[in-house]
Amino acid sequence: MSFLNKFLGDANERQIKNIQPIIDKINQLEPKFERFSDEQIKEKTKEFKQRLNSSARRKETLDSLLPEAFALVREAAKRTLNQRHFDVQLIGGVVLHQGKITEMKTGEGKTLTATLTIYLNALNGKGVHVITVNDYLARRDVNWMGPIYNLLGLSSACLNHQKSYIFNSQVEIENLKEIPRKEAYLADITYGTNNEFGFDYLRDNMAPNLEMMVQREPYFAIIDEVDSVLIDEARTPLIISMPDAESTKMYQQFSQIVPQLKENNDYNVDEKARAVTLTEDGIAKVEKILGMDNIYEQGGIRYVHHLEQALRARVLFKKDSHYVVKDGQVIIVDDFTGRLMPGRRYSDGLHQALEAKEKVSVQQESRTLASVTFQNYFRMYPKLAGMTGTAVTSAEEFHKVYNLEVVIVPTNKKMIRQDLPDSVYKTENGKFQAIVREVKEKHEKGQPVLIGTVSIEKNELLSSYLKKQGIAHQILNAKNHEQEAKIIAQAGQKGAVTVATNMAGRGVDIVLGGTVELGGLHVIGTERHEARRIDDQLRGRSGRQGDPGSSQFFVSLEDDLMRIFGGDRVKSMMDTLKVPEDQPIENKLVSKAIESAQGKIEGHNFDIRNHVLEYDDVMNKQREAIYSKRKEILTKKNVKSEVLEMIDNEIKKIVNFHTQNEPWNYKEISEIAKSIFQAPDDLEQKLKEFKNQEQISDYLIELTQEAYQKKEKEVENGNMRKIEKFVLLRSVDSLWMDHLDSMDHLRDSVRLRAYGQKDPLVEYKNEGIKMFQRLLDSIQSTVVNTIYKVSLAPAAQQGAVRSQPVRAGQKVGRNDPCPCGSNKKYKKCHGR
Ligand code: ADP
Ligand code: MG
Repeated sequence: MSFLNKFLGDANERQIKNIQPIIDKINQLEPKFERFSDEQIKEKTKEFKQRLNSSARRKETLDSLLPEAFALVREAAKRTLNQRHFDVQLIGGVVLHQGKITEMKTGEGKTLTATLTIYLNALNGKGVHVITVNDYLARRDVNWMGPIYNLLGLSSACLNHQKSYIFNSQVEIENLKEIPRKEAYLADITYGTNNEFGFDYLRDNMAPNLEMMVQREPYFAIIDEVDSVLIDEARTPLIISMPDAESTKMYQQFSQIVPQLKENNDYNVDEKARAVTLTEDGIAKVEKILGMDNIYEQGGIRYVHHLEQALRARVLFKKDSHYVVKDGQVIIVDDFTGRLMPGRRYSDGLHQALEAKEKVSVQQESRTLASVTFQNYFRMYPKLAGMTGTAVTSAEEFHKVYNLEVVIVPTNKKMIRQDLPDSVYKTENGKFQAIVREVKEKHEKGQPVLIGTVSIEKNELLSSYLKKQGIAHQILNAKNHEQEAKIIAQAGQKGAVTVATNMAGRGVDIVLGGTVELGGLHVIGTERHEARRIDDQLRGRSGRQGDPGSSQFFVSLEDDLMRIFGGDRVKSMMDTLKVPEDQPIENKLVSKAIESAQGKIEGHNFDIRNHVLEYDDVMNKQREAIYSKRKEILTKKNVKSEVLEMIDNEIKKIVNFHTQNEPWNYKEISEIAKSIFQAPDDLEQKLKEFKNQEQISDYLIELTQEAYQKKEKEVENGNMRKIEKFVLLRSVDSLWMDHLDSMDHLRDSVRLRAYGQKDPLVEYKNEGIKMFQRLLDSIQSTVVNTIYKVSLAPAAQQGAVRSQPVRAGQKVGRNDPCPCGSNKKYKKCHGR
């Protein structure tokens, strides 16, 4: 044992030892709690809650309640499930409560262990989340542990894909009653997969109003099979996206419209700021071409955004100067060096607009609407804990990424499984033949065999070998969890042969059916996995709760792991070895090579996950800022002051920008102001009277306020408050989604810069900050440019369906009377 292992071992032992006095306390309470009636148990829960909330001198904490709470849960489990938590399970429960990972071997009863911690932490009513690896296990666990919580007086629920259930002992099938999602989150305890929790989080942050948000503030999550969730699945982030064929069409459509617009009449160009703004006349013209009455209302901000990009592409970007067209592609020319930059794309849809302008094929977009990595999702929980049979080999990653410590909890009974040394073959074919021989031999004795493979493909290959030998077997691919749970539960029966990928049936108990004398379950691994952890998982299928059992891995020099990572020594061995292919090779070198290959790959995969995370960390700050802004908008009844502040700032920004150099550009200022709100015709003249910037701004702000009051009067019965909220929210959402796209593009483009000796991550961070600043700017300018033009359509009043664009309920012609009853023409009133 290395020094480090010894050191860690001692530290672990010390932790367990420190917990022991708590366990003694819990055990001392047992005789007393045994005498409680069921009613008294429920009463105890109420009492605990009161003690937590009381303002008594000595305020109680979850820690101080722990011994009693754990003793009560144990009592409830005895009465409902006829299972009494073992002392080691109490230890596991304490470790979970400490916000750590408990490593408890497969079959030690982690499901029951967790009930202790879940109950204790649910007492303050903030909602404990329990993360499972699939929907079936979420349902199974709430159905299984529900009776305990029920007796204790707490509610428990589970999330499945598009369905949610609450535990209810009155319901006959599975004791689960379907309920709305939001109610599942209001339960004291909610079970569900990482995907369901994560997607609900993302969807909540796209919700148009508070009522449609389902989650409460994150509080405490216990993650079952924590290595699978936080490590194996952490390489790919959660993404909500949609294919965007519509926008491709829109680019083409708008690129044909904008040539019909005239400078100064329909739009104004500000070359220096690289901006174009449409005038009222310009907008009216586009509306006429499109046959729309009000583009802001019917098309929305996104539509206008497309229009503006088409205009920018047309007016501000010159072929062979800003970009070239080559092989059907628009290639950016670097402003400073004049070099072509193939592969890089302008963001915000500008590149697509250029493609449409040049009539080359417009790249189909898949619009990312929201995304988050599991790492950053789970880091939002102020308290986190996990459990698994295999954590310690990934302890470093858990610590670094999640600040989670791993504590190994001893098994209840001594583990007697025999782990045999690897059996090594020269070829894969030889290996499979040897495996089949082995299976046949065990099978004839009646000993159950579980064979683990690394992929569905290998699963099927092995199955065909077994078929040839006439060995009946079950095959599991981790496709149908419920079905497979039933099959794998039988894998310990006499004569059973089960072939499974490593995730198939994870979390399902394998009970031995009268096969103890035959040696229990024999596990065969057909290939070493990339991570030692996964190999340990497979072995752990056997020898649960002190059962007999054995395990062995079969490997060949042709396995991916050896071929790709085995190094030269393995290769040369391949050539020189003169052993028949189905004879095992006795070679220490091979075992060493396997371990070093695994170490290398683990490190490599850690790096990949870290990489994903480093990039997401940049996004994470921005996501948090935007999501909290948006929640603030939803929560507030009135956001008028925010909107007015944006108008003020925008005006100041415009004035400042055009008064940097002499002579001041009064014309431009007045034109922009006119494109925002209805200003006096002689505005430019008026502005010229002012000789300092502040005066100009003040005057303009005064005008905007007057126009605002007028607008408020037009929009009767307080609907302006709804419009403000709506415009603010829509602008944030739609521009944020565009921003996500841009950040995606940025990621791609910084990768190319790595060739120029620049650190892509640093580049990404720096540019990301700038882009975020631009996002905030364009949110402001979009709100300001929209607020005077939007009126309230019926659909918006009702608060729109989840993530659907708000559209006008009925069409009104520009010359029709305005539906608001003002007796004015629509185009002069709300249609403006
Ligand atoms: P793990 O998740 O640790 O692999 P499970 O939670 O699936 O284990 O439990 C394995 C089996 O052990 C289940 O059949 C469960 O009912 C049983 N079990 C767990 N704890 C106890 C206990 N204290 N007394 C009796 N049986 C238990
Ligand atoms: Mg389990």
